[in-house]
Amino acid sequence: MTVGSIAPLTAAEASALTLAADVPNWARGRSKVDGTPFYLAPSRTVTGVAHRCTSYGCTCRGFERYGRCAHSRAVQLHEQHERDIERAFAEVARRARSAETFDRLFGGPDFD
Ligand SMILES: [Zn+2]
Repeated sequence: MTVGSIAPLTAAEASALTLAADVPNWARGRSKVDGTPFYLAPSRTVTGVAHRCTSYGCTCRGFERYGRCAHSRAVQLHEQHERDIERAFAEVARRARSAETFDRLFGGPDFD
């Protein structure tokens, strides 16, 4: 038996995880240049300011300085979560189709 381990959560990752829960509430927009969708991430330090943010970039000062930020990471986590949900629903649908096919071929469950 293999026992795995979970890496400890860094403060930055914990912060991004907390922010990720709010991403569905963030306003969304599209670039006027190429139509790329983005989120408007509320600034965590300046009230009334929002940053244009995607999973791969952000207009906040942190991203400009370090090439990463909690906003962008939060969008990544949110989008991964959405993909996980879509995958789970697709799997449920696939299993339902398999069960229907099984019932059609062999009849329904026999509880006798
Ligand atoms: Zn940012």
